[in-house]
Amino acid sequence: MTDAAVQTTAESTAAARAIAGARRIVVKIGSSLVVDAKTRAPSADWLEALAADIAALRAGGREVAVVSSGAVALGRGRLKLAKNARLDEKQAAAAVGQSLLMRGWEAAFQPHGLTPAQVLLTRDDTERRRRWLNARATLEALLTLGAVPVINENDTVATEELRYGDNDRLAARAAQLIRADLLILLSDVDGLYTADPRRDPTAEHLPLIEALTPEIMALGGGANAEADVGTGGMATKLMAARIARSAGCATLIVSGLQPHPLEAVRDGARATLFTAPATPLAAYKQWIAGSLEPTGALVIDDGAAAALVKGRSLLPSGVARIEGRFDKGDSVRLQTLDGAVLGVGLAAYAADEMARIQGRHSTEIEALVGYKGAGVAVHRDDLVLEAP
Ligand code: GLU
Repeated sequence: MTDAAVQTTAESTAAARAIAGARRIVVKIGSSLVVDAKTRAPSADWLEALAADIAALRAGGREVAVVSSGAVALGRGRLKLAKNARLDEKQAAAAVGQSLLMRGWEAAFQPHGLTPAQVLLTRDDTERRRRWLNARATLEALLTLGAVPVINENDTVATEELRYGDNDRLAARAAQLIRADLLILLSDVDGLYTADPRRDPTAEHLPLIEALTPEIMALGGGANAEADVGTGGMATKLMAARIARSAGCATLIVSGLQPHPLEAVRDGARATLFTAPATPLAAYKQWIAGSLEPTGALVIDDGAAAALVKGRSLLPSGVARIEGRFDKGDSVRLQTLDGAVLGVGLAAYAADEMARIQGRHSTEIEALVGYKGAGVAVHRDDLVLEAP
């Protein structure tokens, strides 16, 4: 799939256009696609074909991260565990299977010159802001360095009450974390239908969903549930689409049953596209402005205030005073010296660290707090100014 081939025409499907227009894509692959049901080993040929599709997307200037299931299924195969194994046995299977899984990805990527990077996340990493800023920075670095993150849940240590449990939602959170504009869920069906197409011949395929109404969400119920080796069914895919949508990320449900599933979509294969109304950055900024309660404030000098209005980051040198208590990643008010509120942003350092670096040059941060961190007090992407 060359990039010229990814350029689409007016007749192309909405799904093909979504791939062509995307900048950063998360591709989620379920266990039933990754693991060969007979050998219980990674499906080498299928994975390599998908790697070719990913290489083509990257050659066209798109960044790609993968969310791959399969650790538990592969580990169960190796350890000869039954499907109804105990939770601790499944967690043990994940430990064994995760390395088999990465070996599968390494082998699939190698002929295409791609470098996989194993990233194991827990729910805490995507929901607690302090950890999430860190996970985001690492994933950004991987993408900048040209590696392909291969993300899975850290099943071995995740506790039952604090885990995603299904990789559809993990993939949506990963997409949100890296501000992807497209989430592709490779499934064993080619999209959403009005009923289960395997049981109901009158079921109609829905190629484009622009609003996640209760009626659409209800289509994930019983009838559309998949017979997957993994955990996710249509309901979790719709939930993933909802998370992605609120993060400004469109979602595509695509069949992965044939090789080269992404190329197939480009060539017009059926899929369902869930559009997103905003861009990832706009959705992210709306979340900062709307859902977080600031726990403190950074009082900034006039020079810094002028820089913010021009769209720059807030540097420690521009911070004159700190109010309240906040942790790294918490929301803080940005105030001028005379008390006017300019906006809100996510603090790149905790309050005590901020107190040490205020008024100082960014190059001094490491000596003052013991690590370098973001190098700014609030990054420009993490701040929202109030309308003047
Ligand atoms: N994280 C699990 C695994 O790698 C899969 C979860 C899922 O199937 O969604 O085995």
